[in-house]
Amino acid sequence: MDKKKESKEVLAAVPLPRKRMNRPSWDEYFFQIAHQVATRSTCMRRQVGAVLVKDKRLLSTGYNGAPRGISHCIEVGCLRDELKVPSGERHELCRALHAEQNAIAQAALHGVKIEGSTLYCTHQPCSLCAKMIINAGIVEVYFDEGYPDELATGFFAEAGIKLHKIGG
Ligand SMILES: [Zn+2]
Ligand SMILES: [Zn+2]
Repeated sequence: MDKKKESKEVLAAVPLPRKRMNRPSWDEYFFQIAHQVATRSTCMRRQVGAVLVKDKRLLSTGYNGAPRGISHCIEVGCLRDELKVPSGERHELCRALHAEQNAIAQAALHGVKIEGSTLYCTHQPCSLCAKMIINAGIVEVYFDEGYPDELATGFFAEAGIKLHKIGG
């Protein structure tokens, strides 16, 4: 018997472990990354993570936090938090950029084209982010947790961007 055939038979006789792997779907995979990205957030109220994906390729990531070189809310305090501004209102009072905005800015900074990409975000984008998402050429948005901003969902519907809620 030739060596090659012999080793093949030996291998076939070895009982290989048939363990079912808990392999995530692509959607789950990118959501897990978005949730991991959110852990870097410096917002005192809500940790948000966003990733931009095209053709199963990760293009850019972002979490909510202050712009580069500017102190974070966790260091100097957040006016929205101090004034107890309700969720979804008066974004301009906070120094932080939103996760979606940071993901778009990071792509611009590194010259990555995000036209036709999909956004996976831990939370539903606000109306400010919705406008940026539309003009950045993002075509689909998946999110986990809702956010009280009906203007945003209206913008997405009007612009023809598919919005999917994943979390319960
Ligand atoms: Zn803040
Ligand atoms: Zn936003």
